[in-house]
This record gives sequence, C-alpha cells and structure tokens, in this order.
Amino acid sequence: MSGAREALLRVAPGGVLGILGGGQLGRMLALAAAELGIESHIYCPDPASPAFQIAKQITCAPYEDEAALTAFAAGVDAITYEFENVPARTAAILSAAKPVQPTVHALETTADRLTEKTFIRSLGIGTAEFRAVDSHADLAGAVGVLGRPSVLKTRRFGYDGKGQTIIRPGHDLSESLDRMGGQPAILEAFVPFVAEVSVIAVRSDNGSVRTYDLVENEHHDHILDQSIVPARLSALVEDQALSIAATIIAALDYVGVLAVEMFVTSDHTVLVNEIAPRVHNSGHWTQDACLVSQFENHVRAVCGWPLGSTERHSDAVMTNLIGDDINAWRALAAEPNAALHLYGKLEARTGRKMGHVTRISPRSR
Ligand code: AMP
Repeated sequence: MSGAREALLRVAPGGVLGILGGGQLGRMLALAAAELGIESHIYCPDPASPAFQIAKQITCAPYEDEAALTAFAAGVDAITYEFENVPARTAAILSAAKPVQPTVHALETTADRLTEKTFIRSLGIGTAEFRAVDSHADLAGAVGVLGRPSVLKTRRFGYDGKGQTIIRPGHDLSESLDRMGGQPAILEAFVPFVAEVSVIAVRSDNGSVRTYDLVENEHHDHILDQSIVPARLSALVEDQALSIAATIIAALDYVGVLAVEMFVTSDHTVLVNEIAPRVHNSGHWTQDACLVSQFENHVRAVCGWPLGSTERHSDAVMTNLIGDDINAWRALAAEPNAALHLYGKLEARTGRKMGHVTRISPRSR
C-alpha cells in the first residue's frame, strides 16, 4: 500500500529527534537515528539510562517536570517515545509544543486492556472473550460466564506477565482479586493457544503501511525468550496475522512502528492479545535479518521520511540475554553467524534484559 502524497517532513538530516524513555529501546532508536544523520535528545528520569550513554543530548528529569519538558520540546524537531505508559499530562505538554508520534489517541486506546480489546473487536478482529471486573460480584459473574481457567489482569500497567493471575479450578476468587491491588481489572477466557506470534507494522503519515514477516515467540517465566522467523506456521495464519496488524495500524491512524501480539489456536484462528504502540522486543531480529530495522523504520515514520524496506533477507532466531545470561558474551561474540547487542546496563539483576543475540542463516522461505 502506498499513499498518494509524500509524508510531511518533521526531521531532516542534521535535525533532532526527542525520545522519551532511556531504556534499551530508546538506545536502539537513537542508534538508528544516528545512521540517518539525525541527532537524538533522550529524556528519562533514571540517571543510569542505557540510552544516555550514546545520545548527544540528554535530560534527566521526572516526566512530571513541566519546565524540563518545555525546554526539551523547544530543542527538538519532533518527539517520540519508547514506552507506552507516558502520563497523559506529559503527552499533552509535549504535543502542544512539537509533533508527537504516535499520538495521545493511540496511547490512550492501547493503555487500557478494556478499551484496547473493545477497539479491536469493533474492527471485526477476534480476541479472547472478556469482561470488566471492578468488584467481587463482577468477578464471580465473569468467572460464571468465562469458566476456569481464566486470566485476571489489571486493565493498565501490565507487562511481562506482571499484574495478572490465572484463576484455576479451586482458586479463591477474593484472593485472586486482592492480588490486583484494588486496580480496575479484566477477566479473559483462557486461550488454549498452540503458538504465540507477533507482527511488527509501520505506518507513515501519508498512510503507507508495511509489515515485517510473522514472528513466532517463546516465553520463559512470562518474559520473551526467543523470537523465530519465519514462524513455523501456515501461510494462512501468516496472511491473517499480517492483515490484522495492517487493519489495526490504519484504524488507529498511527504513525510509527507498533507490535500486535497474537495467539494462534489449533484450528488456525488468530486472536489478538495486545497492541504495543512502540518498537518491540519481538522485532529485534529485524536489525540483522532485514535491510531496514524496526528502529530505523520507526525513526523514518516519525520524522516524515519514506519508509524503508521490511523485506527479510535471512532466517533469524533472536534470543534475549536475561540477567546472568550476559556472562556468556565472550562465547556469543565468537559465534560466526551471531550478532550480539548489549545494552550497556551495569547491573545484571534477575529478570533484567541485558542484551540480545540474533543468529541468522540463509533464507529458507
Ligand atoms: P500479557 O501480559 O497479556 O502479554 O500476557 C502475558 C502472557 O500470559 C502471554 O504471553 C500468554 O503466554 C499468557 N496469557 C495472557 N493472556 C492469556 C489468555 N487469555 N489465555 C492464555 N494465556 C494468556
């Protein structure tokens, strides 16, 4: 799909892109921007941010610091972010000063699991059955309809399995709800999936949409362990998944990269689990197996450049290096077909993403 007009140029070579968030995603966005001759200004409250190490300009201040936000916005040509939980007030202050992509509308639609799933269903796309849960009575009613096992999740601020619990036969409902810490929740029917997949899609402000190939994801302790491309699934599943992602990104009128995480069931049905309005861990393989990575395509989209190719030239398996896995860096660096990416984090805490390695091989299909 290609739009008729050129995208509006926001950041030319030599210009400055503001990036909210200084983790590994912000770092890899800034590295990709540098490849295009674009400077990055990273804004993050954490002085130990991995992205600070490689950016020319940094602001270390809270996301609520209006003076710091205003000064940051004044010094950049456009703004994007590496995480989805940008406070609404922060996004509003920045949007008043400079173009911010993706928009507050996209953030709001995807920040709350109830709004997100309702939106996805309004497009005729399948999700797990769900019910809003605000009280013990709601939960009892929802479990009555959706059965057990089912999955109770906080509506907001959940990631890597945090803020969720499976309700199994015999589990006490009050205890499960108490684990949500009084936050509004959603109960989802348990999906007996045969695979978890994701699609990384990118859209420019002239409406051009491109998708990368379907990714098969394996998790360990709720954290992404490996992304495998090509996915070991049928062309029918891949076509469905790519078309779902293209429909969602267009319906959100979105500019930039987003990831759609999905479940595949034994009868080849594809159900959307969630949308991440940002570059995504399951798209890291694109750095080494595609001509233009998800990071570069995000920068191109938000800066108003033509999108780059999403074509895959190699097969790839991306493995996250979590906690102590990073200690194997020397052996990984010696592997002939492996590209090693380390995030410059000083402390290898349990569960912390320290880097990733992408092993490539000639394209099989
Ligand atoms: P989430 O935080 O929604 O990405 O969920 C984290 C993980 O929990 C997913 O990657 C799945 O492995 C599992 N999960 C989440 N929702 C469901 C569901 N409705 N049915 C089965 N497994 C689920």
